Amino acid sequence: MEDCLFCKIIKGEVPSNKVYEDDYVYAFKDIEPAAPVHVLVVPKKHISCLNEMTEDDELLIGKIHTAITKIAKQLGVDEKGYRVINNCGKDAGQTVMHLHFHLLAGMEMGEKIV
Ligand code: 5GP
Ligand code: ZN
Repeated sequence: MEDCLFCKIIKGEVPSNKVYEDDYVYAFKDIEPAAPVHVLVVPKKHISCLNEMTEDDELLIGKIHTAITKIAKQLGVDEKGYRVINNCGKDAGQTVMHLHFHLLAGMEMGEKIV
């Protein structure tokens, strides 16, 4: 996707602070961190949001979550805990239309929506 910010980040056309990469997944620090640890974990394949995923993407979604557990360990937050958030669509506040999971950690996050 030519005009997609996260596709450009994955290709290195827009700079990012990379924390993890494998064949399927790219992860980098959020530019406006909402917690001491705030990493965006994205598939290298462009999928605009969860609504656009298909059964063919089930392996990929698993790969993303395996990557999240590796990143949490790598950053030393696996024991204390972390929150994983996906915003899908307008009401959820999605601003970048390339599927991404927020990994938040490093502070107590008491407020729960669900
Ligand atoms: P959303 O609101 O779509 O769930 O999350 C998009 C996230 O992307 C936001 O937390 C925002 O701070 C982050 N973001 C937007 N533009 C950039 C950028 O150019 N670089 C990085 N690293 N993060 C960005
Ligand atoms: Zn994209």
